[in-house]
Amino acid sequence: MGRFDDERVEMIALLKERGITDERVLQAMMKVERHLFVTGPFINKSYEDTALPIGHSQTISQPYTVAFMTQELSPKRGSKVLEIGTGSGYQAVILAEMGCRVFTIERHLDLLLEARRLFERLGYRIASRGGDGTVGWTEFAPYDGIIVTAAAPDVPEPLLQQLADGGKLVIPVGDLETQNLRVITKMGDTLETKEVRGFKFVPLIGKKGWNGK
Ligand code: SAM
Repeated sequence: MGRFDDERVEMIALLKERGITDERVLQAMMKVERHLFVTGPFINKSYEDTALPIGHSQTISQPYTVAFMTQELSPKRGSKVLEIGTGSGYQAVILAEMGCRVFTIERHLDLLLEARRLFERLGYRIASRGGDGTVGWTEFAPYDGIIVTAAAPDVPEPLLQQLADGGKLVIPVGDLETQNLRVITKMGDTLETKEVRGFKFVPLIGKKGWNGK
């Protein structure tokens, strides 16, 4: 038994209560130890349903948000998925645990290096790079799924272009206070969009995002 096993079981029960039904998502979140992605002073809060600071004014997203976005992305084993906003690396590891081939981009190099160390230590093969993810990662495109874990003022066009036919883009879009989660499915030349209200993310900063440092 690990130190936080009971807390993780309670977190999964809460996610189910809040409407997460995808067993693959629940299993991955049961297996991956969120407290390894949380920094020192906040470790005891690792399994509360809340976002937590990870440095550089950034956060590891709330467990419900990770579960909901992953459920909406609905990746299959072997799906090629691009994540924008590596942060702590938790979301990337959840996707890798579900059998996805994961590519992730982070603009804060310190966070990226920390996440990379964790990927290696835990034995996950995840491709990562530093830089502005709003322009995507053309080298490995197209992607079956793209997940953006920071709030965009609008949908960055390059990400739509790098989506495979039948692929899904999950992205929070709105102002700096609240956003709606857009789930966009590319079907040939058309885009089907579903929107879910009421999320709160840190800003997506970059060429096709907000201005900022
Ligand atoms: N997915 C992360 C996790 O599991 O911990 C949560 C990340 S946090 C909510 C959002 C991250 O997006 C921050 O680390 C931030 O630095 C990063 N970010 C913001 N704009 C970015 C951009 N244009 N390209 C890459 N990363 C960006």
